[in-house]
Amino acid sequence: MLDNVRIILIGTSHPGNIGSVARAMKTMGLSNLVLVSPECEVDGKSIALSAGASDVLKNHQRFATLDEAIADCGLVIGASARPRTLDWPMLDPREMGKKVVIEGAKYPVALVFGRENSGLTNDELYKCHFHVFIPANPAYSSLNLAMAVQTLCYEVRMSFLDSNSDVELQEEYPLAHELEGMFKHLEETLVDTRFIVPAHPGLVMTKLRRFFNRARPEEAELRMWRGVFSSIQKSLISAKATSTKDKK
Ligand code: SAH
Repeated sequence: MLDNVRIILIGTSHPGNIGSVARAMKTMGLSNLVLVSPECEVDGKSIALSAGASDVLKNHQRFATLDEAIADCGLVIGASARPRTLDWPMLDPREMGKKVVIEGAKYPVALVFGRENSGLTNDELYKCHFHVFIPANPAYSSLNLAMAVQTLCYEVRMSFLDSNSDVELQEEYPLAHELEGMFKHLEETLVDTRFIVPAHPGLVMTKLRRFFNRARPEEAELRMWRGVFSSIQKSLISAKATSTKDKK
């Protein structure tokens, strides 16, 4: 199960932090490190700070975008050091650990961490099913990247050690790339109906993403929604054909 837990670092700029993250992961039994467009190289400093976890560094994977890094994940959780304007479904670290262990038995799950200086962008956070916040000192809540990774990996480990094999995931959730496909289809449909004006899209898609995230559609429900969108698109096409015929 722990092999299904992917630690994703976006835009990391200090090689030492990548090394310390590898060490934090290995101490908790995790080995799956992914770098998304890092701003630095994995170098001698990384290896020094990994202190014997250089295998985790050596086996890391690299992607240009978050979408590619999470495409095959059924659960994506973003770690954020500060609240955002649009609230998202939140987990505390303990709840996060439980969810990761239950769902990690079925498919890859991702914990996503942001840049040292600016964290995760809103768009990156909106790709996540849940956010997790380490309830630190409200006056000083931003942990060092590797410390945040350590804290959350510890919770995953505690939940793993505690896990009772009777708790099995009953729902069949879609993977991130299937969800993205649905959001794209939804957006196209709303452009077709003119609910979304491409020049002024506003926050409609972000709010709909939040709504669907909160509902957490299962695979069969996602297929049904895609059927709904296709039926709207089809009826728009036939309405258009009828009105052109009438004009003739
Ligand atoms: N200055 C940045 C914080 C960067 S810390 C900001 O204002 O967003 C680097 C990363 O560590 C964050 O993007 C987040 O993924 C993680 N992190 C740090 N403190 C955290 C906390 N209290 N809870 C959850 N994640 C945290």
